[in-house]
Amino acid sequence: MTSAILVLPGDNIGPEIIDEAVKVLRAVIVKFGLDVEIKFADLGGAAFDKAGEPCPSDTMALAHQSRAILLGAVGGPKWDGLERELRPEQGLLKLRSQLGLFANLRPAIMYPQLCTTSSLKPEIVSGLDILIIRELVGGIYFGEPRGIRVLENGEREGFNTYKYSESEIRRIGRVAFEAALIRGRRLCSIDKSNVLEATALWRETITELASEYPAVELAHMYVDNAAMQLIKEPKQFDVVVTGNMFGDILSDAAAMLTGSIGMLPSASLDKNGRGLYEPCHGSAPDIVGTQKANPLATILSVAMMMRYSFHRTDIADTIELAVNEVLDNGLRTPDIMSDSMTMVTTREIGDAVTARI
Ligand code: NAD
Repeated sequence: MTSAILVLPGDNIGPEIIDEAVKVLRAVIVKFGLDVEIKFADLGGAAFDKAGEPCPSDTMALAHQSRAILLGAVGGPKWDGLERELRPEQGLLKLRSQLGLFANLRPAIMYPQLCTTSSLKPEIVSGLDILIIRELVGGIYFGEPRGIRVLENGEREGFNTYKYSESEIRRIGRVAFEAALIRGRRLCSIDKSNVLEATALWRETITELASEYPAVELAHMYVDNAAMQLIKEPKQFDVVVTGNMFGDILSDAAAMLTGSIGMLPSASLDKNGRGLYEPCHGSAPDIVGTQKANPLATILSVAMMMRYSFHRTDIADTIELAVNEVLDNGLRTPDIMSDSMTMVTTREIGDAVTARI
């Protein structure tokens, strides 16, 4: 694997937020003397318009050669009428699965400056800093057999298979324990082991793995209780690890604790640390071209890239500090605007973060 970074702007606000994140990326490359090359390619609707498919082979080849990929967002009404396999989102799914990106990391951080934008009381969410780790390529979303069949009595029955092998559980478990080691050293594993055998094996395997990480305090929680605890007392969590379906649901709930989707980065990692980094939001066609898009989720995705694919905590910290300073100075895009703050454009936020770096 080279030290190339592949940038995929994507569709609608994708190019706008990527412009700002690339400014920040170039600034840290210069400041820290990083030896990396930035390449660009198309994904999603932009790729379909040029090449007739949402994830062309040249984009895939560049992705395979890169250590990290930075994505804006894909999709939009322009391509909604296409056949399923040509839709922009299919390009992203192909990229994730062909690169074997099994570990999805989503931090939910409440920036103190934005406490009032959450739907929960400030005292519940202030200081919130959770990392949710979701297994991304297994579990019930991929398990076979699956389908809809006709029973003998003529009634139709839908069915899916929830399964995880020990090696799949250990693989995601290691990512979670390692992440806990560089954070607060607490890991909560979420399952439904009182009802589902597959998750009883999950609990057993994660418990065995804990002996390799004595510095990490491991706890287990049933998913229904976890959903409740996330709303009731979210600050009890440090790192959370869970399977694909539970992670899908809980990570969205945790994300919303923080108020704005425009602030949430994510990483999807393979077993060698190659990662796809992207904001949690979509391509926001309703605000494209208005300079209202918040680029901070994408900029914070660059910080995650430095932390997880380049192992440069110092650079990640620098980017996150710069974002904090910009918020301290009262600069806001409309999605995080509140009284007495200064409303600015996508570009102005990007320039302000870059200037601080
Ligand atoms: P969305 O996340 O694009 O937008 C939801 C709402 O949040 C909109 O009001 C939008 O203006 C706002 N918003 C989103 N990002 C913002 C930002 N950075 N700053 C300020 N406001 C922001 O979700 P949607 O409207 O359901 O989907 C739009 C398109 O994006 C669809 O085609 C969908 O398939 C696609 N999508 C792509 C991804 C991805 O690329 N990973 C993820 C989700 C949705």
